[in-house]
Amino acid sequence: MKIVRVDTEVDDIVYGTVEPEGIRLHRGSPFVAWEPTETVVAWDEARLLAPVIPTKIVGVGKNYADHAAEMDSDVPTTPIIFLKPPTTVVGPLQGVRYPEASKDVHHEAELAVVIGKVTRDVAPEDVEAHVLGYTAANDVTARDLQRSDGQWTRAKGFDTFCPLGPAIVTELDPTEGLEVVARVNGEVRQRGSTADMVFGVPELVAFVSSVMTLLPGDVILTGTPAGVGPVRPGDRMEVEIEQVGVLVNPVVGS
Ligand code: ZN
Repeated sequence: MKIVRVDTEVDDIVYGTVEPEGIRLHRGSPFVAWEPTETVVAWDEARLLAPVIPTKIVGVGKNYADHAAEMDSDVPTTPIIFLKPPTTVVGPLQGVRYPEASKDVHHEAELAVVIGKVTRDVAPEDVEAHVLGYTAANDVTARDLQRSDGQWTRAKGFDTFCPLGPAIVTELDPTEGLEVVARVNGEVRQRGSTADMVFGVPELVAFVSSVMTLLPGDVILTGTPAGVGPVRPGDRMEVEIEQVGVLVNPVVGS
């Protein structure tokens, strides 16, 4: 199932599921209770929004060995986690604003885990039941500020620095290896496989849930493969996750 959040002309913001003929609107939300309506809107009548507004976004640093190497860093022995505020979230085609404070903003293509229910101290083997599904994310990072600040809150926390979407895809197994690709203006910059994550999704969700309670809709970014690099206002960023979809966002001036 592919779950989307849409701004349509026929209703308020609502959730929907992707069907061959369009998007079937639902009452409620997949995180509490929802039911399908009779209404199916065509793709050109619906504007896709970020598929979820999390209470928190937990990022994972250096979770691909090739990216750790390009950052002159070793692979960590326990997951390195950080937070991005919910105000970083934007949806498909929304602009990522280039902040005046940075001169080196980078794309980071990542698989994002969307939590489905309250999750605390979950064991790796029980994680699957706590995951609603997966979407694509761009963990936009001001690389110069990440280095100069010594911690990552500002570098990863600017408004619009977490594009999510286009859909939440359920019944997906990232341990089988999903291709993760970043393109800038159509040119491939990153290409990796979720099979190469240092810590897989079960370990990551279990680890984070041993630190903080995860709430329905919370998002875990699973790290980025090698090839991160700069973007400029006017660029078009794409994150493609195999079996999930393509997330497109332009970079705009501050
Ligand atoms: Zn990242």
